[in-house]
Amino acid sequence: MSVLLKGAPIARELYIDFKKRSEELIAMAVFPKIEVLIASDDPAIETYSSMITKNCERAGIICGINRLGKESSDKDILGVLQKLNTDRSIHGIIVMLPLWKQLDEKRILSAVSPMKDIDGVNPYNAGKTVLGDDSFTPNTAQACKDILQKSGIDLKGKHVVIIGRSNIVGKPLANMLIQKGIDATVTICHSKTVNLKEICRTADVLVAAIGSPLFVTGDFTNPDQVIVDVGMNEIKCKDGSYKLAGDVDFENVRDSVSAITPVPGGVSPLTHTALIENVFKAIKFQINEQNI
Ligand code: NAP
Repeated sequence: MSVLLKGAPIARELYIDFKKRSEELIAMAVFPKIEVLIASDDPAIETYSSMITKNCERAGIICGINRLGKESSDKDILGVLQKLNTDRSIHGIIVMLPLWKQLDEKRILSAVSPMKDIDGVNPYNAGKTVLGDDSFTPNTAQACKDILQKSGIDLKGKHVVIIGRSNIVGKPLANMLIQKGIDATVTICHSKTVNLKEICRTADVLVAAIGSPLFVTGDFTNPDQVIVDVGMNEIKCKDGSYKLAGDVDFENVRDSVSAITPVPGGVSPLTHTALIENVFKAIKFQINEQNI
């Protein structure tokens, strides 16, 4: 029987600490506040942003929502960002993706102040992550690192195989885990990787960030392996209802590996705590007027 690596109990403890930190800031007349920018009608964004609002509230952080209509231009959204970037009462900014299709995503993400980039999307912070400098890291990549470290899994000298090379998970996570002090050896795989299963079987830690439900089966694993399942996929059940499934076929592999994160309740709760942690980091930078 494998160990279940659950993010939810870790997150519960963290929220108690977040609330305390917010109260301390409020006592010093600093009111933690972030703004979310939505330029889309994607229903998944609505669900995600209401989750952010709820989690911010739980942590004692004010969360505002800014919506831009279907006809918005780059200039409109850059104008809003400029205001948010210079407003000293706002500590963090999140631009929800995807944007309306006419908008230039790269240009817009680059316009988020690096000091308020709590989602870690500005290329400046991406570069800092590569260098191993203190920076805002993308929340999901940070959550993968956190669940391993907070579960006491030592990565020194371990072979970590990551399936997925996205800018929010695979690439930043690989860069975070190869830094001195963490000292993992990392292989990144993607859709063109040859011998994927063979490579995955050599992993001490296998991270699945694919977006393909139940993709990783028993023939990707070995008995000593730790699996981090980042996937969040809606699948249709036999009775017509929908349920959440990871990128790993949990039932198929759970008894043949050493430890595994469940979906839901594994990585996801720590994605949200990573975001909140970045808000406090942004406040610290801004109070000290430090350049990151
Ligand atoms: P993404 O941008 O779509 O990237 C998917 C990656 O998987 C790509 O690098 C792709 O390769 C690779 N891939 C696809 N099919 C493959 C195959 N057959 N073999 C090997 N590699 C394959 O996805 P993402 O944004 O990183 O998200 C990944 C998953 O994490 C999704 O299920 C998403 O819902 C979930 N997610 C969860 C959280 C959370 O809080 N738990 C947060 C964010 C995302 P190519 O580059 O070659 O196309």
